[in-house]
Amino acid sequence: MSSQGSPVKVYIRIRPTANFAHELIECLPDQQTLKVQSKKGKRNNHQSSWLFQLNGVLHNVSQEDIYDGVARSVVLGTFGGYNGTIMCFGQTGAGKTYTMTGAAETYKQRGIIPRALQEVFQEVANRVDHTFSVHLSFLEIYNETIVDLLSSLKHGKGSHSGVLTVVEELGGGVSVKGLSLHLVHNEEEALNLLFEGEMNRIIGEHALNKHSSRSHCIFTVHIESHSRTLSEAKYITSKLNLVDLAGSERLSKTGSEGQVQMEAMYINKSLSFLEQVILALADSRREHVPFRQCKLTHALKDSLGGNCNTVLVANIYGEGAQIEETLSTLRFATRMKCVKTKPVINEHVDPVLQVQRLEKEIQFLKEELSM
Ligand code: ADP
Ligand code: MG
Repeated sequence: MSSQGSPVKVYIRIRPTANFAHELIECLPDQQTLKVQSKKGKRNNHQSSWLFQLNGVLHNVSQEDIYDGVARSVVLGTFGGYNGTIMCFGQTGAGKTYTMTGAAETYKQRGIIPRALQEVFQEVANRVDHTFSVHLSFLEIYNETIVDLLSSLKHGKGSHSGVLTVVEELGGGVSVKGLSLHLVHNEEEALNLLFEGEMNRIIGEHALNKHSSRSHCIFTVHIESHSRTLSEAKYITSKLNLVDLAGSERLSKTGSEGQVQMEAMYINKSLSFLEQVILALADSRREHVPFRQCKLTHALKDSLGGNCNTVLVANIYGEGAQIEETLSTLRFATRMKCVKTKPVINEHVDPVLQVQRLEKEIQFLKEELSM
């Protein structure tokens, strides 16, 4: 097992707008610092201003450059056995789904998920010395209930109609019991499943009269790789989690009742638990990290802390009218940047290959003895 320290990488993506508030939001020339001012924070007639330091401030950056600069290394890391997680965070309308999935209109506007799938199958084709199996799963967390967005498909393994729960595995990993896993052989099959899941998400929204921004979505690519060399009994498994978080806007702003208020309460709670987990991970003196407080942090347990490369894209509006929500997104993003992760390769021993190898060795030793 090898390990290396690597902090969570946090990027800010500003949604393009003709009304960019230059007087309030300033991207400093290092392209890693954002200076933000708020009139609301005035004290003694002084305008409050804050500096936020991140791994990158992305303003007027194309989908292709976002993938190359933010996501690509995490995707490729999964081929070395490292789990990877890319999350989009921010208020509704700021560009999370555009960043993660993209816009359907043009090929150029494809987001991180379709580009990651293309790269995964390119790597599978390139790495001729290994055999791979790639499975996909796609879930949604709505009001603390996990919904399988691909359960209607017949060929998934592991699916069942009961309640989906997060279970802890030996070795510290987590999985969702009852979630269907779908074997895919190429990019086209994978994109079809992405599309199917998106459609099921929309159908579910109509049935429950909800809006997609009220749920967290986790699209996971599960990769298993075996060396073609018989002498190598080890194999590697890894997960790539692509997470589109629910809108982070505060409850008071939605000002609604009933179902909407309930949704907002669950979102606020889970995002604040996410923050608590992140703060606990950042504090090396804390031994207990409260992953199990909600479904989101529990499902992401092996993706926020240890065994993982983690990237957060915080999506913000460029308009002055949204500056208070923008500040709250930036504060969350800055806290997230403190987390150090220690990626660990997920290596296992294939018992069948191990036996074959030992049998060969015994045969060899017997031959040596009889000589
Ligand atoms: P969210 O998922 O955060 O609620 P969306 O991704 O749905 O927000 O974005 C809201 C709208 O803005 C969509 O119509 C989307 O296509 C558009 N949009 C968001 N970000 C960008 C961008 N970087 N470039 C062009 N259009 C964008
Ligand atoms: Mg969205």
